[in-house]
Amino acid sequence: MSFVEAIAAKRDGETLDREQIAAFVRGASDASLPPEQLAAMLMAICCRGMGSEETRWLTEEMLHSGEVWNLVADRPEVVDKHSTGGVGDTVSLILAPLLAAVGVPVAMMAGRGLGHSQGTLDKLDAIPGWDSSRNRSETLDLIDACGAAIVAQTEEVAPADRTLYALRDVTATVPSLPLIVGSIMSKKLALGAGTLILDVKWGSGAFRKTVDEARELAAALRQVAIDTGVKAQALITDMNQPLGPALGTACEVREALAVLSGGGDPRLREVSLRLCREAMVLRDWTPAEAGAALTTALGNGSAAQAWERMVTAHGGDPDPALLARPTTTIEVAANGEGFVASCDGEELGRVAAEVGAGRRRVDDDLAHGAGILVHARIGDRVEMGQPLATLSIGDREVDEQRLVEKIRGAFAIGEVPVEPPRLILGTVDEVEDS
Ligand code: URA
Ligand code: CA
Repeated sequence: MSFVEAIAAKRDGETLDREQIAAFVRGASDASLPPEQLAAMLMAICCRGMGSEETRWLTEEMLHSGEVWNLVADRPEVVDKHSTGGVGDTVSLILAPLLAAVGVPVAMMAGRGLGHSQGTLDKLDAIPGWDSSRNRSETLDLIDACGAAIVAQTEEVAPADRTLYALRDVTATVPSLPLIVGSIMSKKLALGAGTLILDVKWGSGAFRKTVDEARELAAALRQVAIDTGVKAQALITDMNQPLGPALGTACEVREALAVLSGGGDPRLREVSLRLCREAMVLRDWTPAEAGAALTTALGNGSAAQAWERMVTAHGGDPDPALLARPTTTIEVAANGEGFVASCDGEELGRVAAEVGAGRRRVDDDLAHGAGILVHARIGDRVEMGQPLATLSIGDREVDEQRLVEKIRGAFAIGEVPVEPPRLILGTVDEVEDS
């Protein structure tokens, strides 16, 4: 078979066979196919789509292009969680110890920040001593020691994705559903937890802007998981504004601890609890039992203790007093009055990255004391001079006034009352039915 025939077949809307998909993925990982043929196939897939079997084959071939941990073989009860990305999304730091506290072990492979969204690994690096680099057997040891392993995604995981993602980026083929599913799920299946809970975001700050697009992605991700033997559920949640109030590294760790200690931001708490509950239902709990156990864990100190065990097991010092503090804080006040109509989370995320929660170059150091705390939420009534957000500055040189203006500009304030978007739309089936 010549690969030109495979490209022509997909161009004409035919279904690829497993051999053709394997040749495509192999061609990307070992450079046995030239970039122009890979790019042509990407465009053909983008325009013609893929059926669910083709999508599963693509995902499996991408998965097997690299290291496969298959944790389920040794710890069948482990749960993994994935979010399609957003701002103020501190859920992973809450979900892992909270599920551990109720006896449901968790393992996640996390990445660094990208663009406007802060990465879980970067947040954990704000904890003195925390070390996320573990191999498979060290990850199993972490699961046994504290019930919650959060480890760094290695270079060896799904290398075909790195080549294909770079090509997608320059060929306008990033939005293709099967390509997104292959990219996300090949990395999830590499860790190989037996249970997966997906948080698919919709809205202005998500990469799927409409509920329909998010639902379509959620259904496709869950289908690949189920077809490969993973128990999976997908929730569709709001990303029309930052989820939690904290955007940064140390400040998000503090926010997670506040929720784990029974307080914290109600939106962040609600999404974290719902994702935990759905994960527990997949592990055969009833929704009522799961909800009660989670509420108890937040109220009686056991979730906070699970956090301490998790931090200690990862080499960190759980004393919150050691988390970096800002050198300067600036209140960003409303320059008018009315109702918050919208809040541009991507813009706030970019400002948080610029002050120190993200990198301008790959070798940049983060400023862990830096970030943003959001005070005004969509639908809130604000008066002139009322704080919309607090900008925290660390030890990075920044143009404070320009950043303050950007933050102020991220909030649109209008005269008419606004109904805030619903935080949790439901599971993918519930949204389908509505
Ligand atoms: N996240 C990924 O890892 N890949 C995509 O293609 C999109 C989001
Ligand atoms: Ca560290």
